Amino acid sequence: MTKSNVISFKVSEETKKMMMDELDYCMRPTTPQYAVFQAKDGDTVITLYESGKVVFQGKDADLASDFWIETEKMHNKNLDVKNSKNETKDKLDKAIYIDPKIYYSSSIGSDEVGTGDYFGPIVVTASYVSKENIPFVEELGVKDSKKLTDDKILEIVPKLIKVIPYSSIVLSNKEYNTRYKDGNNMNALKAILHNKMLFDMKNKIKNYDYIVVDQFAKPFVYYNYLKKSTNVVRDITFMTKGEDKCLAVAAASIISRYLFLKEFDRISKEIGFNLPKGASNEVDKVAKQVVDKYGFDKLNDIAKLNFKNTEKIKEL
Ligand code: MG
Repeated sequence: MTKSNVISFKVSEETKKMMMDELDYCMRPTTPQYAVFQAKDGDTVITLYESGKVVFQGKDADLASDFWIETEKMHNKNLDVKNSKNETKDKLDKAIYIDPKIYYSSSIGSDEVGTGDYFGPIVVTASYVSKENIPFVEELGVKDSKKLTDDKILEIVPKLIKVIPYSSIVLSNKEYNTRYKDGNNMNALKAILHNKMLFDMKNKIKNYDYIVVDQFAKPFVYYNYLKKSTNVVRDITFMTKGEDKCLAVAAASIISRYLFLKEFDRISKEIGFNLPKGASNEVDKVAKQVVDKYGFDKLNDIAKLNFKNTEKIKEL
């Protein structure tokens, strides 16, 4: 059994208004005490209190709250999100169901990396694994993409991409920072880039059975981010933990990681620092050294400025 998840944070007046509009269709007729409204969106119960606190409850609370967290972050950069989830318990509870119909099909899949790293680009890849290539891809070890070390990825991806068609995009930090400032949050950017790569692959590959996206937002939220995009790919099967359920997603994930590692290495060499991955205190320390050497503006070229790290570095 999966533990119910509770996520809560405070919203601004702007987000409050937006929530009332967007969730109007699933609002419950009665509300608990001190609540402005209560809505039931799929399996998630959303309650907004007069204090401005909003609470998401249910096993999909993560996904349901994602869009609103990103929205609120545009008004409040230092948003404090409380999450009741007990990670270890949750992992034990969640058995992954692999649908053989999808796993053994000819599929296009997409995945991204770099979204949790302060330094380095975001890379999104869509790849195509035909039925005939499944044994080859499994043999390389792509099946266990999450268990692969960076060294192993550097070894097998060159072999993989000789056989597997793919499309990748490496979004530089500079471009990321510009687009973020223009009002595209992380998930909006992801959606735009996934769609671009999927459209690319769809043009190259005509005989696929499924298009699988490693799900990072609910489908309606994903498509909402693409409102201004042209060539929107619509025949998508969204799957959480997609890299376990579809080899094309697993392949896309490690190709993305490969390109990320290459670019990360290039940036590190260029500036003469051994940049750490992730977004830890270690990252802040090295970033401070970079700032001391090159000035603060250098971060615009090598880091994702909207991360909390930026503020912390200023204080160092
Ligand atoms: Mg993913």
